[in-house]
Amino acid sequence: MTPRTAARAPRPAERARPKRVSVLGATGSVGGNTLDLLERHAGRYEVEALTANTNVELLASQARKLRARFVAIADPLKWRALKTALSGSGIESAAGGEAVIEAAKREADIVVAAIVGAAGLDPTLAAIESGKAVALANKECLVCAGDLLVERVRAKGGVLLPVDSEHNAIFQVFDFARPESVERIILTASGGPFRDWSVEALARATPAQAVAHPNWSMGAKISVDSATMMNKGLELIEAHHLFGLPEERIEVLIHPQSVVHSLVAYVDGSVLAQLGTPDMRTPIACALAWPDRIPTPSRRLDLAALGSLTFAAPDPARFPALTLAREALVAGGSAPTVLNAANEVAVAAFLEGRIGFLDIAATVERVLAAIPVTRLASLDDVRAADAAARAAAARAIDG
Ligand code: NAD
Ligand code: MG
Repeated sequence: MTPRTAARAPRPAERARPKRVSVLGATGSVGGNTLDLLERHAGRYEVEALTANTNVELLASQARKLRARFVAIADPLKWRALKTALSGSGIESAAGGEAVIEAAKREADIVVAAIVGAAGLDPTLAAIESGKAVALANKECLVCAGDLLVERVRAKGGVLLPVDSEHNAIFQVFDFARPESVERIILTASGGPFRDWSVEALARATPAQAVAHPNWSMGAKISVDSATMMNKGLELIEAHHLFGLPEERIEVLIHPQSVVHSLVAYVDGSVLAQLGTPDMRTPIACALAWPDRIPTPSRRLDLAALGSLTFAAPDPARFPALTLAREALVAGGSAPTVLNAANEVAVAAFLEGRIGFLDIAATVERVLAAIPVTRLASLDDVRAADAAARAAAARAIDG
């Protein structure tokens, strides 16, 4: 990043040899899209480490296909199965939280942080501390520990390359050399599958309906976040940390077609945007190849065929999560950590059928009201706020 993201471009000599890449959360949606690109550009990239939570079969087949050197499975009970699945391949493996952190630290040029949730915080930090460029998809770790994380990136002279499509769009059009020329940034939001639903219909929305996103194919958690619009709330906080703008200079705009991925407005009235079809391989490719570009097979944008693009203001009455996130960002300290942790617990409960769709934001609101805002001076403070919020959310849900 310059000041926060784009500090250090690889020198030409670094570009000549294949870039070594590790992917944390390889078996997920972003992980799979990343591996698709790494496979297409096999001469340009080689794979150092891959990690997953529990899916041994997929992880082992990915590791064999991409000839990874090391794989880590977070669930220690899956190690035996992983070793069996990798037997004869010569690929090293390990299990448990420490193994995932080891994967993040192994010698690599770039680490793709694509674990979902605050579970990605320690491995992402490990990658930053060991001086790697980090292609960041895992927005929750910036939401729950943004100030500390950005401080470590700065201290290490590191690079955070945003993978989230909106932030990647802003990264591409933000004048990092003249940040004072930026008036505001505008995050676009598809509005999710329930964009036009009434409150009565939202109250009855099912997990299956919530994960059926109209434009993007993503993991279950972020799909529910998109449906509540908490995703845009998390992205607002993510943007604050990546681009250094205060809450009131970050706008959200509903744009159902997901073609304009986000915009930067300058003091002279110019507004610059990045456009493309909704395919995560474009922002992932931008981060992997930066400052170069690599071809992707994403469907090409045909504006004439689309005919029109539409925009609207978000509706805070039906989607209160966005307001909760704004308030948490303004409150600062532990508030975003609490917002994120309560949301993770509530989304899991919704996906398990234990609470209704509208209860997700209601739970987050109750937890935010119940837990006083504290200052986050260390990672231990982050962990304590995260744990307190998870416990409060569980109590709010289970009574
Ligand atoms: P996903 O659920 O498809 O995949 C998550 C990955 O994390 C999997 O590989 C899983 O094994 C791993 N994981 C889950 N829990 C873990 C744990 N406790 N320890 C270690 N590993 C664990 O999620 P996704 O949709 O790929 O999203 C990943 C991240 O990227 C999220 O933070 C999400 O908000 C962000 N993101 C995703 C998209 C998208 O298109 N899917 C777009 C923008 C941002
Ligand atoms: Mg996004």
